[in-house]
Amino acid sequence: MHADFLRQAVELACDNVANGGGPFGALVVKDQCVTASSGNRVTPNLDPTAHAEVMAIRLACQRLGDFQLTDCTLYTSCEPCPMCLGAIYWARLQSVYFACNRFDAAAAGFDDSFIYDEIPKLPAERSITMHYIDLAAAVSPFQAWSRLESKIRY
Ligand SMILES: [Zn+2]
Repeated sequence: MHADFLRQAVELACDNVANGGGPFGALVVKDQCVTASSGNRVTPNLDPTAHAEVMAIRLACQRLGDFQLTDCTLYTSCEPCPMCLGAIYWARLQSVYFACNRFDAAAAGFDDSFIYDEIPKLPAERSITMHYIDLAAAVSPFQAWSRLESKIRY
């Protein structure tokens, strides 16, 4: 069953190449049914975040009317990049199955190892430098959130 869904993700990735997208595909499955699927649409959508996993997660959330996918499984043609890994954790997916790994992706010109290398660095030491500025009002959004009684925790 897992291999069948994974094969669908790989087929989707192949179809996506023929349709102007990148060579990646992903499915979100709930109760053995495909809730959402997408290929990578970075270049056609002019959206660097339009990875197959992120696209499928967004679509699944819209279809299920929820911001979490706790009872869902993600099948993806390739091991998720760091951005998608973050999205998977924020969506609280139950599990992930992947076909190719990050080394296969790197061999095809999609090397995300530099992002993994950036993560443990201090913000100011990253290749895209990140600058901390000490503002008096910096924590006011968190204070507003803390006071809000009607908040939906996520
Ligand atoms: Zn990704």
